[in-house]
Amino acid sequence: MPAPDTLPEAVEPAAAGPPPSVREELARASRGLESASPPEIIAWAAERFGDRLTMATAFGPEGCLILHWLAAIAPTTFVFNLDTGYQFPETLAVRDRFASRYGLEVALERPETSVEDYERTHGGPLYRTEPDRCCGDRKLAVIRRVLTRFDAWMSGIRRDQSPDRAAAAIVGWDHKFNVVKVSPLANWTKAMVWDAIVREQVPYNPLHDRGFVSIGCAPCTRAVGAHEDERAGRWSGTAKTECGLHSRS
Ligand code: SF4
Repeated sequence: MPAPDTLPEAVEPAAAGPPPSVREELARASRGLESASPPEIIAWAAERFGDRLTMATAFGPEGCLILHWLAAIAPTTFVFNLDTGYQFPETLAVRDRFASRYGLEVALERPETSVEDYERTHGGPLYRTEPDRCCGDRKLAVIRRVLTRFDAWMSGIRRDQSPDRAAAAIVGWDHKFNVVKVSPLANWTKAMVWDAIVREQVPYNPLHDRGFVSIGCAPCTRAVGAHEDERAGRWSGTAKTECGLHSRS
């Protein structure tokens, strides 16, 4: 198995992907970890990539659970939140709770332009008229900038969240960002996540207790009814279903 510092392809923006030997290693690791517990997967990633591993979180229940484990397994891992300027105050308050309970500092990674300047430049908020462009400018451009410093990133996606996520590997190559992507909860269900949060008393966003299931930026998120899909409250009333971080296109 090559050492983490033998993955220079991961930080070349124009790279077409990793060499076949790395692809094979990732596929083998992913198959081997399919029946591992999420903490075992996190420990594997921390061991394999060291300080070239990072984690992105929007403080959803999955991210909070991974942070809870990460604080015990690899507490110096660089963790960041994409702070678009449009997040709920309740979401940002979860960051403070992780800092005080675990001593975990989640970095706020921001776009170059403040919300005020961005909206002034575009004659108003783009989330109303061009949400794809808004996500592109305020999320995708920022995560691209952050991930150039790392070989692997970890996220809280689950396969049963949406058709776009159904094929997520535990460990795979992220063609969009040219890094390895690790998804410790890929084969968990929403019920398993909440059972663990309650059992281990993990902090979570209080908006979940008010009908918000999947939480993103405030202008693009609403509470959902008991029988609605868990992501129905995101960009509700539009055809948009993903911000682009986890989709393949
Ligand atoms: S979720 Fe909405 S406000 Fe947030 S970046 Fe995307 S379009 Fe903009």
